[in-house]
Amino acid sequence: MAENSQSVRVLPGIGPKKAQLFAKLGISTLDDLLRFYPREYEDRTRILPIASLEAGVPACFVASVVTNPQTHRIPKPGSRQLDLTKVVVADHTGRLNLTFFNASYTAQRLIRGETYCFYGTLEGDYLGYAMTNPLFEPIGSDGVVTRRIMPIYPLTAGLTNKQVTQAVQAAIFRCGVSETLPEAVREAYGLCGADAALREIHMPSSAEALEEARRRLIFEEFYVFSAALAIVRAKRSVRAVPAFRTDGMEQFYGALPFSLTGAQQRAIDEILADFRSGRPMSRLVQGDVGCGKTMVAAAAAFCAAKNGKQAALMAPTEILAKQHLDRLAPLLEPLGVRCVLLTGSLPAGQKKAVRQAIESGEADLIIGTHALLTEATIFSDLGLVVADEQHRFGVAQRAALVAKGEQPHLLIMSATPIPRTLALILYGDLDVSVIDELPPGRKPVATHLVDESYRARLNGFIRKQAEEGHQTFIVCPAIEEGETESFKAAEQWAQTLKDSVFPNLRVALLHGKMKGAEKEAVMTAFAAREYDILVATTVIEVGVDVPNATLMVVENADRFGLSQLHQLRGRIGRGGAKSYCILVSDNRNEETLARLKALCSTTDGFKIAEEDLKLRGPGDFFGSRQHGLPVFHVGNLATDLNVLKHAQQAAAKTVAAGDISPALQAAVDALLHNENFVMN
Ligand code: ADP
Ligand code: MG
Repeated sequence: MAENSQSVRVLPGIGPKKAQLFAKLGISTLDDLLRFYPREYEDRTRILPIASLEAGVPACFVASVVTNPQTHRIPKPGSRQLDLTKVVVADHTGRLNLTFFNASYTAQRLIRGETYCFYGTLEGDYLGYAMTNPLFEPIGSDGVVTRRIMPIYPLTAGLTNKQVTQAVQAAIFRCGVSETLPEAVREAYGLCGADAALREIHMPSSAEALEEARRRLIFEEFYVFSAALAIVRAKRSVRAVPAFRTDGMEQFYGALPFSLTGAQQRAIDEILADFRSGRPMSRLVQGDVGCGKTMVAAAAAFCAAKNGKQAALMAPTEILAKQHLDRLAPLLEPLGVRCVLLTGSLPAGQKKAVRQAIESGEADLIIGTHALLTEATIFSDLGLVVADEQHRFGVAQRAALVAKGEQPHLLIMSATPIPRTLALILYGDLDVSVIDELPPGRKPVATHLVDESYRARLNGFIRKQAEEGHQTFIVCPAIEEGETESFKAAEQWAQTLKDSVFPNLRVALLHGKMKGAEKEAVMTAFAAREYDILVATTVIEVGVDVPNATLMVVENADRFGLSQLHQLRGRIGRGGAKSYCILVSDNRNEETLARLKALCSTTDGFKIAEEDLKLRGPGDFFGSRQHGLPVFHVGNLATDLNVLKHAQQAAAKTVAAGDISPALQAAVDALLHNENFVMN
């Protein structure tokens, strides 16, 4: 619908300045406005007699005006003058004094003897009650600001709820939305039509109608999402690729410094079977932090190299890429697999040389960061793409790497377990290998939740670790002190620790704003035990391995998502010594405490992910939007899972029948072009 794609500026009262404010809310077209759903609602349907109004509780009441509104101007030196309008209203149960501040124009519209519906909050106590700046409208009119459920929109400075409401109303008046749900689907699931849902979500006529609208919109959102998945999957070419030979793996196994766990071997065997199948692999390897996914990737890369193909291993950070190289090169080079590292911070000359080695086919295993994706990187014959810590990559990035080869096999490795229920729906077409076993000798990390009153003991504990030759990670939620002074910023905290808390210990700092080389120098020094304490932001969350670190302190632990904390905790407990994770939080919120306690009582990443999803909701799942789950606006992956299931069934039917209406196709296209859309 062309109308819907017009700018909000076509609406009365929206000029360039207002349009900019709307843009801040992510609204540029009428369609954006129609889909800008209220954050919550204010129920103004309750109408009480004056005598039943309660102080502090907003409510509606119907009353007649008994005095003429009287306006007094109060001179105020140095600033805008105040005006004050007083008027008395009454119903059969009592009288009430109304006061209007700086609203004489509005208040003077009240006519003595007429009856209005008012909405406001009673103030005062037994000595006298009054109400300030109530909203009102004549009793004969349709309720617009009284006697109804009012939408409350997310706002930005400079825009009022009233302005947004009016804009939305104007947009609804101008144009409708198209119906993406086939009639048969609406009938089967008892869903209201698109236009009704649109009206009711923005201006509910009743609580029931609002619920119906929500139910339909949730269904629709999931339906369009599922249809998009189904359409893309149906289109995905399944051209045959030459089968790999997978014999000769003994050479690789023989070179390992340890024997593989059963779960690792199973995952590798599954990958090798994919390689032999003659179809491009799409496999997700899920396994808790520390379960040894890197070796699984190495086995796959080895096999690819033996088949004369290149393998690319993409890591989300330079530190991690470097660590992969440091671990894999000594293992694979002697087996004839030439390994190179390509990251953004390499000096230009070196970068060029590495790229040449990649293009000429001299390099077999190419480990790198996003630098792998740039146009300048050309592979000679890319046969395998491995995305490590997949939740850190967008679909587009993964797709860009895959596009550098001809139907390369794709291996996705993730330590953030998606709850099984969700994985089934969201990764329906990926084959999944689960590594549910840790290498032998790992002791679970003992996790404790403490508050500030433990600070002295905690400091003593850190000292003790250092005395025993062990190291400590201290994780802070931000780099610099922000406006909210309440949480420890890594930089300041590191300084404080160095200067006054642990003057005798060696304290280092690591954060995401440091240059690649700087970060690497710090990490390398820490791994070489040149520091006792590493104060860091979540840059250490991903992958980094320092077996001698036995203690992790997480400051303001309540600021992190559960799964993120679990990831962080995975940095320790990698050596033979007993390890501890201390979560520090002064937060007293019961929900928050329950969340953190869940982490203390289990080390099962899947359980934690389920818990996270339940407690925080998917908006915050894993503490950020980098979790790799799609973002839904109305639907909630935690609570609306059943709807998702039904919507998926319905969408699968629609797509299989080739019954895609232009409206559905348009919605699907819009979704696919959204950068936040995650597709595997
Ligand atoms: P993750 O699954 O989190 O990526 P890594 O691959 O980084 O885990 O492995 C964690 C640590 O476990 C590394 O130090 C690695 O060398 C070691 N490791 C991996 N597999 C085994 C194994 N089968 N036996 C002993 N140690 C192993
Ligand atoms: Mg890893």
